[in-house]
Parts: sequence; structure tokens; C-alpha cells
Amino acid sequence: MIYPRKIIHIDMDAFYASVEERDNPELKGRPVIVGGLPNSRGVVATANYEARRYGVHSAMPAAQAYRLCPFAEYLRPRFDVYRETSRQVMEILHRFSDCVEALSLDEAYLDVSGNMDYQGSATLIARAIKDAIIKELCLTASAGVSYNKFLAKIASGLNKPDGLAVIRPKDGPDFVRNLPVGQFHGIGKATEAKMKKLGIHQGADLLNWSQNALVLHFGKAGYWYALLAKGEDPRPVRHHRQRQSLGHEITFAHDITDMETILEELMRQIDKIMAKLAVRNWLAHTVTIKIKYGDFEQATRSKTFRQALNQKHIRSTIRELLQKTKVGNRPVRLVGVTVSGLEETSAMLLQTPLWQDRIF
Ligand SMILES: [Mg+2]
Repeated sequence: MIYPRKIIHIDMDAFYASVEERDNPELKGRPVIVGGLPNSRGVVATANYEARRYGVHSAMPAAQAYRLCPFAEYLRPRFDVYRETSRQVMEILHRFSDCVEALSLDEAYLDVSGNMDYQGSATLIARAIKDAIIKELCLTASAGVSYNKFLAKIASGLNKPDGLAVIRPKDGPDFVRNLPVGQFHGIGKATEAKMKKLGIHQGADLLNWSQNALVLHFGKAGYWYALLAKGEDPRPVRHHRQRQSLGHEITFAHDITDMETILEELMRQIDKIMAKLAVRNWLAHTVTIKIKYGDFEQATRSKTFRQALNQKHIRSTIRELLQKTKVGNRPVRLVGVTVSGLEETSAMLLQTPLWQDRIF
């Protein structure tokens, strides 16, 4: 059995307008429109929910917004403040996963498949993220939880603002059957119109078409629509800030000469590192040991494997590396070990049956 991934889509609610309301409490409860001023040729960047009630929405010409809602508060954007706030949001998200893909200042995907906290429940993680954002930044976010990006993003829009919605693996296919094609990832206005002419209105209609027929009408995108129609989306969360290495080191209380004591310390460190790798679904190809002798002279030794490092060979590898140093003959004050050549794996997921619906 292949266990599903756990993806969270976080979308800040009316981001620019919410930041303005937060920083100026007098705006609270009033329609707020951030973007071009009414007498300019600019457009609305963000309207808060009060302004949206009058039909104002992003990308609308500011002059048109003014006709709909002349009494709104019109504000010029303060992008430096939004960028800084966005950085703080992303910093919070990185506490919950190393795999975070920012889509814009106010939106990101997280792959939390490897997060064992919160009973391994993506739903509880999403709640904890929302709580942290409210508590630390005084802003609300909506979260969508699902087993791929396509459905996680749709889920975050279901209960906006301050929403949390979950589309479980077992419910995905049914959910997509009832989803209007205009909401499918990658289907814009033109394609939507073309589909409607062909009698394709929602997911269920797409399922009646063969992949070949879809490709015939829509080109390569047809393959994509056929996948989405089944509730499938294999796109990984692309994190830009992946770590290059993972390591640990300690300084002994007093210098050590005994080779076995040093080997045991390094094994204790590598065990911790390997556990971290497993949780994050990473493999490593290189192991490096670092030794600082009593006189502060430093040595590093490393070995790279074509196959990923595994627990079985790690002990003999570290012993082999130690033998290439002067450990055993000279006092040592510090030892450390680092793994690098990191690579993401999905195979780890298959080994651990932690990914059932009940803890989704
Ligand atoms: Mg948003």
C-alpha cells in the first residue's frame, strides 16, 4: 500500500488589508481597500471582507471600486511591511516542516508527511500553525489539508476567512467529481468555456472522457486534467531552502585519548542524525567526521557512497574514518559528525504505516 502525503496550504486572509487593520485599529470593521487610490488608474491589490460585500475584489480598477464603495478607506500599499510580515509567517511555517514552498507573500504549501508531532495529524498541525500566526502576528490564515497540492489549495478556500478544511484521501475522488471545472488547477476562463461547450461542467463529466480524447481537445494539458479528475496530483512541494547538511558536535569536559570512547560518542551523534533524516524523508550520501585535538589542531575525514548511508554500515565507516586520524594517539577535545549530499525520498513513507485516514 502506498500511503498518501500530507500537504497543508496556508493562505493569509485578505493579507495586505489585514496587516493595515492590525496596525491601525481605527480601521477595524470598516471597508478597507489597499492598492491604487480612487482617482488613479491603479487597481485594487486587496480588499478586506467588509469591502468585498460591496462587490470590490482584487485586480478591479480603483475607480470602479470607488463607485461601488466610496466610503471605504483607500490605502497605498506598504510593501516593505507586507514583506517583513510575510517573512515572519514563513518563519512560523518552517517550524512545522522543512518542506515549505512559498507561492507569494501570503500563500504557501507545506509537506508535513514527516512531522511526527501532533500525533502525526496534519489537521492538528494546521490548527497549530493558525494558532501561532494569530498569537504571534495578530493575523488570521486559512488552512487547507489534503493529500496533494491541488486539493489542499481548494480546501483552504472552503471556509475562508479563518478557515480550516480537510479533504481526506478517501473523500478526494468524490469531492472532485462534484467540483466545477473552473476550480481545477490550470483550468482558466478560456479552457473552462471550451469545456462547457463540450458538456464538461464538473469532475464527474471529465471522468467520462478518455485521456486520449482529452489530449485530442486540449493538447498535453489533457493528461493533467485526466489526473486531476481522479483527485490525483503528483507535484511535490518544492522547498527552496533545503538544507545542505545535518550535523552535530560536542566538546568533551576533558580531553579524551581512548579510540572506543570517541567512537561511541560519534555513534551517539550519528544515531540522532539518522533519526532526523528518516523523519524528514531524506537520505544522505556523505559522512564527515571532525576532530579537534587538545592543541586545537583540526582534522576532517569524509567518505561518499553511491548508495545512501544506512545504519548497518555507518559504524564501520566511522571507525574506518577515525583510523585515518591520530585518534588513539593524541588527546581529543572535540568530535563532530556531519552528513551531506542530502536527497529527498518518498520510499521512507512506504515503510511506515503512520499515514492512515484516522490521523490525517
Ligand atoms: Mg490570501
